[in-house]
Amino acid sequence: MSSLSTCNVTVIGAGPYGLSAAAYLRNAGVEKRVFGETMSFWEQQMPVGMCLRSSWDASHIADPKGQFTLDAFRDQNGNHIGKPIPLDRFVGYGQWFQRKAVPDLERRRVRSVDLDPRGFRVSLTDGEEYVSKRIVLAAGIGTFAVRPQVFEGIPHSLASHSTEQKDLSKFKGKRVAIIGGGQSALESAALFKEAGIESEVITRADHLNWVGKHVKLHRLGPLSRLMYSKCDVGPAGISRLVAAPHLFRTLPRRFQDRTAYRAIRPAGAGWLQPRLTGVPITLGRKVVAAMPTESQLRLQLDDGSERIVDHALLATGFRVDVSRYGFLSPAILQQLETVNGYPVLQRGLESSVKGLHFLGKPASWSFGPLLCFVSGTEFAANELIAGIAERN
Ligand SMILES: Cc1cc2nc3c(=O)[nH]c(=O)nc-3n(C[C@H](O)[C@H](O)[C@H](O)COP(=O)(O)OP(=O)(O)OC[C@H]3O[C@@H](n4cnc5c(N)ncnc54)[C@H](O)[C@@H]3O)c2cc1C
Repeated sequence: MSSLSTCNVTVIGAGPYGLSAAAYLRNAGVEKRVFGETMSFWEQQMPVGMCLRSSWDASHIADPKGQFTLDAFRDQNGNHIGKPIPLDRFVGYGQWFQRKAVPDLERRRVRSVDLDPRGFRVSLTDGEEYVSKRIVLAAGIGTFAVRPQVFEGIPHSLASHSTEQKDLSKFKGKRVAIIGGGQSALESAALFKEAGIESEVITRADHLNWVGKHVKLHRLGPLSRLMYSKCDVGPAGISRLVAAPHLFRTLPRRFQDRTAYRAIRPAGAGWLQPRLTGVPITLGRKVVAAMPTESQLRLQLDDGSERIVDHALLATGFRVDVSRYGFLSPAILQQLETVNGYPVLQRGLESSVKGLHFLGKPASWSFGPLLCFVSGTEFAANELIAGIAERN
């Protein structure tokens, strides 16, 4: 047996899910180590000027005593925070949450996690190695960015995923094609327009979906509460179902899949609509070829038309495939039961590899679409703690 040091639980990730889980573990007196850069995905991989699509009530990072809500952040810092919530304020909130609830966060990266007779052997990029009984994986979706096949081989200077572009103002004087029809595509188009940058949205969908359009339905008091949960994921009725993951997961698989799609299909926030006036939006069209010219990109669409642009911004979303978390060893991946790249999880969000838990979007195949959003942190952290308590 090696002489490596040991710890009970390792949390990988310092976004909303990792921070929330760490706060609950701390409260439960569970020995832990937590790694990651606080809110790095939000700070580095979302565009400056963006606002959250989720509502105020659905954007609290959960902590066990409800002390570190957005309201507490605003009150303690004397800050006005607009609605919709601006990205920089939300990042500030996450950083404040970390300082208050997870002061022992280690800003280091995990290089690899492998099986060990006592649990898992964790290696950090700075060379430290130790053994952890459990791993709580909350490493987000950044590694799952989808780059459509037609853009394979095109230099990133000509076609980049939306997660690669933080400062959209650098496209000043350029013409940009935005590929996609969800929040990221539509909000980027609004930000381009407001910065005086010419862009066109091209989406294969034949219509755009909008969320938050039925404002009146949210103002009917107890009736609204029957239709919508404060978690704010999905339309009337579905919102309630999604907010009860234990119930959701008992439903027939096909129904779960259809309902999940309905809850999180590509859609823009209703407040974006007026900001998009005058932006060309081409519906029902696919880019079938992309060819670099000298310094530009020629896009061919499936109606035979062409666009010559300086850049294609690929707001083409994410596809979960946990094998793309480069730090999980082949031995772990071999033992991990997955469906379409998602881990199959049980009580405590625990995978088929005993002691390995997944939080955030990777958990959504097993526990439903709530887990794709910040509002799922309360369920996830409680479920994790309950699962660990039962196993110990
Ligand atoms: C453009 C955009 C807008 C969105 N808007 C909303 C919204 O309004 N509301 C909402 O609820 N959701 C929104 N989402 C979804 C959002 O991504 C998730 O809700 C949220 O990020 C999930 O948090 P997380 O903790 O799972 O992951 P993340 O926030 O991505 O955190 C991942 C963490 O893992 C760490 N990490 C990764 N690899 C390692 C490693 N090897 N070692 C150590 N640490 C590591 C990172 O440093 C980071 O701290 C949006 C997503 C996008 C792309």
